[in-house]
Amino acid sequence: MADPGTEDFDVIVLGGGGAGMSAAINAADAGRRVALLEAGDRLGGSTALAGGVFYAAGTAAQRELGIKDSPDAMYRDVLALNGDSVCKPALRRLCDEAGGALEWLNSLGVEFPASRLSSPNGRSVPRSHEPVGFGMRIAECLDTALSQRPVDVVRRARAEKVLLSPAGRASGVVVDGEPISCRSVVLATGGFGGDEAWVARMLPKARRPGDWVWHVGNKNNRGDGLRLAEECGAQIEGIDSGLLLATPNFHRDLEVLGPDWALMVNLEGRRFTREDGAYWEISEALEAQPESRAYVIFDRTMFEGAKPHPRVLEALAAGVITVSWVPRMFEEQLAKGRIIEAASIEQLAQRTGLPAKTLSDTVARYNAAARSGQDAEYDKTAASLKPVETAPFYAVEVRPAILTVTGGGVRIDAATRVCSPTGAAIPGLFAAGETVGNLYGRHYAGTGYAIASSITFGRVAGQEAAAFSGR
Ligand SMILES: Cc1cc2nc3c(=O)[nH]c(=O)nc-3n(C[C@H](O)[C@H](O)[C@H](O)COP(=O)(O)OP(=O)(O)OC[C@H]3O[C@@H](n4cnc5c(N)ncnc54)[C@H](O)[C@@H]3O)c2cc1C
Repeated sequence: MADPGTEDFDVIVLGGGGAGMSAAINAADAGRRVALLEAGDRLGGSTALAGGVFYAAGTAAQRELGIKDSPDAMYRDVLALNGDSVCKPALRRLCDEAGGALEWLNSLGVEFPASRLSSPNGRSVPRSHEPVGFGMRIAECLDTALSQRPVDVVRRARAEKVLLSPAGRASGVVVDGEPISCRSVVLATGGFGGDEAWVARMLPKARRPGDWVWHVGNKNNRGDGLRLAEECGAQIEGIDSGLLLATPNFHRDLEVLGPDWALMVNLEGRRFTREDGAYWEISEALEAQPESRAYVIFDRTMFEGAKPHPRVLEALAAGVITVSWVPRMFEEQLAKGRIIEAASIEQLAQRTGLPAKTLSDTVARYNAAARSGQDAEYDKTAASLKPVETAPFYAVEVRPAILTVTGGGVRIDAATRVCSPTGAAIPGLFAAGETVGNLYGRHYAGTGYAIASSITFGRVAGQEAAAFSGR
């Protein structure tokens, strides 16, 4: 190993999204000579495209609203959902440090007003912190903080390889065929949604919705961090971890807060989830249905009265998304044959191929629940329970097909050190953000979990890589 200071840099961070920028800032603040290499023309990655919602417990915003919450409670909740499919020590650190990471972002200029705090699934304790200005604001503030530090930021620099010393320690990277030496490397290249081969390997469930599947996110996120780590002997894990959001496939745009006012049935004509659940709960329930397909069923009153979810409106105004579940779109899609119309529920069953008797029974039970205001089957809230009773009736097919977040990737420990299949850390190699494969688990923990782990572990990776570089 060369003496400290003889390498080109102490720490090289690969990827300039939320995790990478957080890592570079923290490594620089620890006094290290840092380079950040970004494949794209600009910094931000998927973080800049995101809602920016941040999942954390024990925050100032929660205290302001008198909400009792703690890192312990967050740990218990994620563990109850994901059990052995996450690395417990790493999860523990995430829960302990997510609140601090949120306050750190706040100190850089990202506001998380208490008024925007919400429950990650509409029912449990409010823990999802939405920033003013969405993920773009997080990316801008990190970019500004980075520019105020002596970090060499190189855009259009796609790392091709991580170099190891003869002793197996990360000792540099290769970009455009040129080696750059360093004492530690942080992999923060995001997920693999932009690469078909990685999707096929890591996310077999994405085959079921067929050609409906499309990736929304940074196009440079092609699993590079997974490949680079694997070439260094890292363990890759987290098969089928990832969010495939339900979509009517009307147009390639994102409206995650779907029609909570309608009824949803699987191909057997049965309900399978509460339609006003969190987008990730609905997606996961839909994935588990026959052929991963379902129909949203509604009547003329709903057709005419459909309004976007209130939380969608701001994103709409900001030009972040367009919407699917509005009357204008229904008219358009009806004309294209993507919405099925029928004079009766029996005729709707015929036209969709759903079993008529089961569908009629389902609609009858749902309407009875709507009239009583009590959904004994799925506990949908009374405000979203509306009877499907005014002809004509409509059916729209939905599938879990918008690939937004991938959860499979590199195994890390609680210090973000990349680990081999035996659990041994690969010296000098760290990873954070969507590149990581043992934090997401089988189920998405809730709105804001991905940003929380990217920023929190981006900071940890920067600090740990800086400490390692001094050894
Ligand atoms: C539309 C949308 C909305 C979302 N909303 C939320 C939300 O509200 N809350 C939440 O928790 N999560 C959300 N997510 C998920 C979340 O945004 C991401 O999981 C998170 O931002 C990932 O951060 P990251 O730093 O790991 O990756 P990114 O921010 O994607 O950064 C990775 C960077 O690495 C670069 N890169 C790739 N390969 C290389 C290479 N070989 N060399 C150099 N650079 C490379 C890429 O160009 C990119 O800039 C959303 C995702 C999307 C797509």
